[in-house]
Amino acid sequence: MSARGVLAAGVLAVSLFAAATHAAPRPVVVLDPGHDRYANLVTEPIGPGSSVLKIKDGGGTRGVVTGLPEADLNLRVALRARSLLERAGIRVVMTRTRTQGKSMGNIARARIANRAHAALYLRIHADGSADPSVRGTHTLYPAFRRGWTDDIYTASRRAAGIVQHELVRALGFPDDGLQERADYTGFNWANVPAILVEMGFMTNPTEDRLLATAAYEQRAAVGLCRGTLRFLARSPARCS
Ligand SMILES: [Zn+2]
Repeated sequence: MSARGVLAAGVLAVSLFAAATHAAPRPVVVLDPGHDRYANLVTEPIGPGSSVLKIKDGGGTRGVVTGLPEADLNLRVALRARSLLERAGIRVVMTRTRTQGKSMGNIARARIANRAHAALYLRIHADGSADPSVRGTHTLYPAFRRGWTDDIYTASRRAAGIVQHELVRALGFPDDGLQERADYTGFNWANVPAILVEMGFMTNPTEDRLLATAAYEQRAAVGLCRGTLRFLARSPARCS
């Protein structure tokens, strides 16, 4: 092969490699910042074909000290997690990017994840309690139900364990563990692995104050990014 031929072959190999790299499907993660500016009291069935109805969105909680609405906190963390995940090569779809209207409800959110063929449908929330001493991080995943969640149960449970571990490590709040839920509309309508993180309790003064800071919002985002990448069998090192 002539020098020019070798060069041409080299260029071809490099472009084929580049093409192959670009062709490799990037996993899609759907981030769902819970709630919106306004509650939505319209009801919807808790699962496909169900006669059990639940309201679309009661509106979430708010910071007992800061007054920060949960919808705003969820979005701040989600936007930070989006940046980290995109930098790590993940394609991110958001269910919302603003806090401005009536909440779309949980069937609509699950459908966004289904349509995107999400490798993970990650729902981001913070909790509230009548008891201000209740605090800590926990993660929910769908209970097993044939015809609704049988296809996503195992992967969702695995994702919940990994993300909960990383989120607790990142935030340093008490580990309140995992919770299986049969009554979550957003889980029962999902056809892709789905989890819901409750980052902390906004009704606890300590956790409210911390979660309202940029530093802790970033910590939460790093935890979510690391958990997501580990669930997808990728290196979490790219999150920090
Ligand atoms: Zn919530």
